[in-house]
Amino acid sequence: MTKRQAGVQGARKRASKVSAAPPVEQVPRGGSRRAAGAPRQADFVVVGGGSAGVAAAIRAASHGASVALVERDAIGGTCVHRGCVPKKLLSYGANWAAVLSGCLSHTGGREDWSDAIVRVNAEVARLAVVYQERLQQAGVRMIRGEARLSGPDTVAIGAQAIRARRILVATGSRPRPLPVPGGELAATSDDVFGWQSLPASLAVIGGGYIAVEQASILSRYGVKVDMLVREDRLLENFDRDLSTALAEALAAKGVRLHFNAEVALLDEANGAIEVCYRQGGAARTHSLRVQAALAAVGRDPHWRDLGLEALGVQQDEEGGIRVDRNFRSDARTVYAIGDVIDGLHLTPTAIAQGRWLADRLFGRRGERADFDLVPTAVFCDPAIGTVGMSEAQAIADAGKPERIATRVKRFVSLENRFAGSTQASLVKLVYNARSGRILGAHLLDNAAPEIVQSFALALRLGARMSHLQTTVQLHPTVAEELFG
Ligand code: NDP
Repeated sequence: MTKRQAGVQGARKRASKVSAAPPVEQVPRGGSRRAAGAPRQADFVVVGGGSAGVAAAIRAASHGASVALVERDAIGGTCVHRGCVPKKLLSYGANWAAVLSGCLSHTGGREDWSDAIVRVNAEVARLAVVYQERLQQAGVRMIRGEARLSGPDTVAIGAQAIRARRILVATGSRPRPLPVPGGELAATSDDVFGWQSLPASLAVIGGGYIAVEQASILSRYGVKVDMLVREDRLLENFDRDLSTALAEALAAKGVRLHFNAEVALLDEANGAIEVCYRQGGAARTHSLRVQAALAAVGRDPHWRDLGLEALGVQQDEEGGIRVDRNFRSDARTVYAIGDVIDGLHLTPTAIAQGRWLADRLFGRRGERADFDLVPTAVFCDPAIGTVGMSEAQAIADAGKPERIATRVKRFVSLENRFAGSTQASLVKLVYNARSGRILGAHLLDNAAPEIVQSFALALRLGARMSHLQTTVQLHPTVAEELFG
């Protein structure tokens, strides 16, 4: 056993030791530990133990509310188990793989998927226990089971029922199935984190966050990746210069990009998957033979099996739960936050919504987070960090192109120079041509996510180009390219 494997086993043992502590009521489907009878009472029942639900439950409990949280699976939700956390850990591993093969090839150092996934699972297990402990310390009663709302103030878990003054639905989203014949042959991002070994070749269908991140990570683990993107570019809601520079970087790293590619059919033959697609509206069908396909074509809000329609809950235009500005649904005792409602589907927005709502319902009305200027990152290589408006959005907002100016810099970072790579980084600022007020910052570099977090604050405080010119740069950094 290697030192590292021993470390992982140690972490697992520690995790399983702590996991024995937090008490969780288990309610099997259709059954109950206690005889059915009068429902229990609670101020607040939260359905869903992901980022949004946990944040709201802990905050409500800190205000003295009696809170129950129902989760049928592991606490932590998509972010911890099938999203941000395992993806970011794999991304670290993939970065090390590139550094190791570039700089330490003579020592034989390399990053291996099967080893990486063991470490990812150990960290995810540790985090799930931390979530449970935090809920327990806050005094939240945890109930494991499948929740349904049997009335506007009653949550049924098997034969058990809890009555609550208010109910919060934070049940998240699920990967959208690929809507073509044979679409079920494609894996989803949920499946990737369970892969014990990697396919030799992979077709990634989609051009959004998940498609880009997974294509970038998996190609660095040695998978031959083809991306089938139905738009003419990646990440269509991001600034076009970022999309173009990212596509060039991915192509230079061996990812094959097919734009304007509409997938029509998936078929299985002799252990391989054939992906048929049309390009640029032409009638001719192309096909790709790959060992596996991954569909990353969006995520659907998950709430249809909760019994909410019967209570008068309506859906919004995107298929999520319709809520007002205060996250209240059309059933007045039922609230909803996170991926199950329309808006930016990001872990930090879900947490901010949960805490704000819990403060409003059970504590003092808090200040609302700024959901208009939300920084966001894509953890590909090179990574993207972005906040505010793209050039196209700023022009549309201002009404005339001459009202908007941009400053774009392309450069090779010191880190890349050291690694012997000429991969270009990019920083782009979008600002008001007259006042100099910065409207958007867009970065492509592995340091981008860290830089953009602080830059979001500058934008909220109304930073102008003159502030950047009169702030002394920190050298040598990637961030200094924004200044001066
Ligand atoms: P996105 O909405 O980001 O992208 C979906 C992509 O799939 C688009 O390119 C879309 O193209 C394409 N698509 C949709 N339907 C089809 C189809 N039938 N055939 C081919 N392509 C199709 O969704 P993701 O699944 O990538 O991510 C889901 C959510 O998860 C995101 O909204 C994001 O907020 C969140 N997320 C955030 C991360 C982060 O913060 N780093 C990481 C991962 C996920 P078109 O534009 O033509 O519809």
